[in-house]
Amino acid sequence: MQTHTIGDIRIDRLMESEGAFADADFLFPEISPTLIETQADWLMPTFIDPETKKIIMSFHSLLIRSSRSTILVDCCVGNHKHRPNRPEWHQLNTPWLAKLKTLGLQADDIDYVLCTHLHADHVGWNTQLVNGQWVPTFPNAQYIFGQLEYQYWEEACRSHEGDSPLNHGSFDDSVLPIIEAGKAILVDNDHQIEPGIWLEPAPGHTPGNVIVHVKSGTQHAILTGDVMHSAIQLANPDLSSRFCSDAILSRDSRTKLIETYAETPVIMMPAHFPTPTAGRIVRRGNAFEYLFN
Ligand SMILES: [Zn+2]
Repeated sequence: MQTHTIGDIRIDRLMESEGAFADADFLFPEISPTLIETQADWLMPTFIDPETKKIIMSFHSLLIRSSRSTILVDCCVGNHKHRPNRPEWHQLNTPWLAKLKTLGLQADDIDYVLCTHLHADHVGWNTQLVNGQWVPTFPNAQYIFGQLEYQYWEEACRSHEGDSPLNHGSFDDSVLPIIEAGKAILVDNDHQIEPGIWLEPAPGHTPGNVIVHVKSGTQHAILTGDVMHSAIQLANPDLSSRFCSDAILSRDSRTKLIETYAETPVIMMPAHFPTPTAGRIVRRGNAFEYLFN
């Protein structure tokens, strides 16, 4: 996506990686074997790779700049994170942080970091490895975590037993160091960051999952996080992902979002839709379709 202007507010995308990463029936265990075939005219080649039939996903952050503040939403996988159970995330070394400069920004310029939820692919760049320690990447930022989300993972990680750590160990290397540095603010799920920029609860993918509204003048965008992972879920909004903690609640949050904003000018900016990412939801038969903006 190019720079989007929402009234007086600017939104840019900062991509970490993009590619045909996941088999559709892995990410969406309930998918009908014929769904992609019947919707191929709009899903391929942008959302589904015609050769491998894998889902094309992007991992990116979104940067909101208003007259008041610079807000980084979601923090991808991060560099040097130990993720042996996800080879495509393991020990990454990407120029994501250096690319901030191409947007005219440095790490010092970020006022807020906001994680829509605390999965490993949304918290990674919260921290970076300096002299063997995980330290906050953005020294002047306050990190906004949902209170409910934080409590859920704090308890889950504390009581977890098993060979591999919960959430690929991301709570320990990408969330706790922020808390320990005194940089976190734990907020309600309808928190307003400033006039025109606020959170809305969208539970199901995780218990404290949120979406982020950006509204200025007559324009409105929603950073939808992982309420939808792929445009396939517009062809069948009932499809929750393998990684949703509550598939039914995730479906309900997704259906509410889709039904509310379909056929409106409101721009969606999902966390994993491929380039150019931003678009609108329109009706198609009994379901929906995605049109890039
Ligand atoms: Zn995600």
